[in-house]
Amino acid sequence: MQELIKKGQKFLMNTYGRLPIVLDKGKGNLAQDVQGKQYLDFLGGIAVNGLGHCNPQMVAKIEQQAQKIIHCSNYFWTVEQIELAQMLVELSCGDKAFFANSGAEANEGAMKLARIWAEKNFGKGKNKILTLQGSFHGRTLATLTATGQDNFHKYFSPLLQGVDYVECDLQKAKAKMTDDVCAILLEPVQGEGGVNVLPADFMQELQKLCRKRNILLICDEVQSGIGRTGKFFAYEHSQIEPDIITCAKALGGGLPIGAILAKDSVAAAFSPGDHGSTFGGNPFVCGVAKEIVSVIADEDFLKSVSRTGGYFRQKLREIKGDKFKEIRGLGLMIGAELHEPKAKEIMKKCAEAGLFFCTCGDSTLRFLPALNTSVHDVDKAIAILEKIV
Ligand code: PLP
Repeated sequence: MQELIKKGQKFLMNTYGRLPIVLDKGKGNLAQDVQGKQYLDFLGGIAVNGLGHCNPQMVAKIEQQAQKIIHCSNYFWTVEQIELAQMLVELSCGDKAFFANSGAEANEGAMKLARIWAEKNFGKGKNKILTLQGSFHGRTLATLTATGQDNFHKYFSPLLQGVDYVECDLQKAKAKMTDDVCAILLEPVQGEGGVNVLPADFMQELQKLCRKRNILLICDEVQSGIGRTGKFFAYEHSQIEPDIITCAKALGGGLPIGAILAKDSVAAAFSPGDHGSTFGGNPFVCGVAKEIVSVIADEDFLKSVSRTGGYFRQKLREIKGDKFKEIRGLGLMIGAELHEPKAKEIMKKCAEAGLFFCTCGDSTLRFLPALNTSVHDVDKAIAILEKIV
């Protein structure tokens, strides 16, 4: 394994703080390294492997779709893209979809859509985008700018113009919602920022303010969407209707795809040539995503995500010795904040002991297992974690 890692260090850019593990195979919640050691995977490819590794239904669909059509460009319509758009529209408050290849790309497109909507409806000058402090929206220059955490900005100036940050505080947000603002972009549950669930009353009041001031509310559901929180989209917990929703990660179950969903009145701002993507929405990925969405959108499936998540949070609370300051989250998007900044150390030791998860900041452990995780697997994860913490 060391030889392979050395080779990786020679040929790959040094952008990730990787664990010293070379993965080779996966099945359900189990990942296996090149030496045959197995790990319980509660990182799930960072909320991507919604149905676990190599889900048989997904694999069968991949094989079938690969025999049919893989790519043809957006010069043409395809059944797969049209039908996936219909499914997502019917599962959301959006009316129209656009397909991209990642979460950052979906957010970047949503920011463009907000600006073109504002200029076409209100003239030039209404182009500022507000985002929340502690947010994470991606790594492209625009979405990095939108990310409300200074540590991600270092070295990359000048950032995009026309972005400002607000605290998750209604009065403070209100003060910044001036005539030049076209949109507020937020994650209903902040992922990278610490698994912070935004309060429903904040979301509801913010939406009212947005409507009054002709500001679009954009929900970044890249991490929280596609069943992760026990609802298909996390904004549903707050009974609001965002004007634009972005999603990615679990939508492709491991294949790259992102989507923008928007109300008709907003989507109407785009005309041919205003936005596009070579790969975005190709029939291969859309065909597979359709299969994944049809499994996850099932009401009983979503209820089981809530139930397993509740069980997991309860088990974390029951770990003896007051190890956690707070357990946060919804469904299977769970954060466990430690009293001390030892998240990375614990994450590494757990990985060695056979359990994967990730961290946010220095103090929070973050769990994003497959959405079909059993309580039996939760018990196994808790047993490893209990030993290490
Ligand atoms: N938005 C949120 C909320 C995310 O969690 C992420 C990735 O972690 C992104 C955007 C960026 O997605 P991607 O890495 O697919 O570009």
